[in-house]
Amino acid sequence: MNQHKKLSSRLVHLGDRTGESVSRSKTIPITMTSVFAFDDVESLDRVYRGEAQGYIYTRNGNPVHDALGEIMSGIEEGEGALAWASGMGAIALSILAQVQAGDHILAAHVLYGGSFQFIGNELARFGVGVTFVDVVNEDLSPYFQANTRIVYVETISNPIMEVVDLEALAKLTHAHGAKLIVDNSFATPVICRPLLLGADTVVYSATKYIGGHSDVTAGIVVADKETLAKIYAFGLLLGPTLSPFDAWLLIRSLRTLDLRIRQHARNALSLAQYFHTHPAVQTVYYPGLPSSPTHKVAQRLFSDNLFGGMLSIDLVGGEAQAYALLRHLDSIQFAPSLAGVSTTTSYPAKTSHRALSDEELAKAHISKGLIRISAGLEDVDDLIREFDSTLAKIC
Ligand SMILES: *Cc1c(COP(=O)(O)O)cnc(C)c1O
Repeated sequence: MNQHKKLSSRLVHLGDRTGESVSRSKTIPITMTSVFAFDDVESLDRVYRGEAQGYIYTRNGNPVHDALGEIMSGIEEGEGALAWASGMGAIALSILAQVQAGDHILAAHVLYGGSFQFIGNELARFGVGVTFVDVVNEDLSPYFQANTRIVYVETISNPIMEVVDLEALAKLTHAHGAKLIVDNSFATPVICRPLLLGADTVVYSATKYIGGHSDVTAGIVVADKETLAKIYAFGLLLGPTLSPFDAWLLIRSLRTLDLRIRQHARNALSLAQYFHTHPAVQTVYYPGLPSSPTHKVAQRLFSDNLFGGMLSIDLVGGEAQAYALLRHLDSIQFAPSLAGVSTTTSYPAKTSHRALSDEELAKAHISKGLIRISAGLEDVDDLIREFDSTLAKIC
């Protein structure tokens, strides 16, 4: 850089070309830029016209987003994937990009709180009708209408961990000319790959297991090219752009996803078995337990006998006992999210599902004694010891 330039000029240009080299970075570099520079107008024009590979502006795309998309679509066996600034961003875009006024959606009656509110409260303003149904226990056939475009479900429902038969649901959905969107956040592609079971679009809160370290808020959509083009075009205008830095963190996290999920699932199963015989617990919700009503479906759809890292327990002592347990647990933190490296607890009635009325809570089996547990990566004996001594103290 020319020494004769003033400090202000040097401040904005120094380092521009650092790193040009005959070798390249072994890992994907963080392209922390909002815009890309071109040598001339012709090259910019070629990129706009799709004749040259290039980037223009990070809201339109960034190399780290593309690398993340390639990994996600590669493991899901989709035609592509798009990353967004949150799970809700990915979910809202995936739905809105595929409906118009006059359409109808069928949705599971037990959903992540934000998804339930978006589908239940916001879609009506866009002229989209909604019917909530018990997708696990009811025959959905009578609920389809001529204008039903989308069926929206979660692989493992939150917080009572019921597993939907995605294979059968995809067949039924397609027979009615609709598309199946699956929120696979709780299962992850290590345990279940909904596209291979017939689903059309898979959405993730990557804030959860994909990120896995409680330090990123992000969402991902995996689908076919035509659907992704609609979601991309709409997302470009709504603007929930993921920071390239956060996209990079997700790539880093994905490298260990398989290892992490296996340990989360092993610990969750051991905890579920422990709680199953504990007198203070009236019900354990975990699809890995043979007593779970959807255990057989989970065995058929899930890989390697893995049932996920999430379980819920319903305490005999109700609300007072639930509050006491959450207050007295020591290293196991009460944190209203999930899927981090350490075990955390949540209280669905006052966190993820606090917008539900008492009647809706009862329908979703969310009692006042219900505690949701996100099994972390600790040694499970330590976890059981902590739950055991705390339950002994409060019972
Ligand atoms: C957290 C969560 C969401 C929302 O994702 P955000 O990243 O918080 O926007 C959606 N679905 C499920 C199942 C979730 O757990």
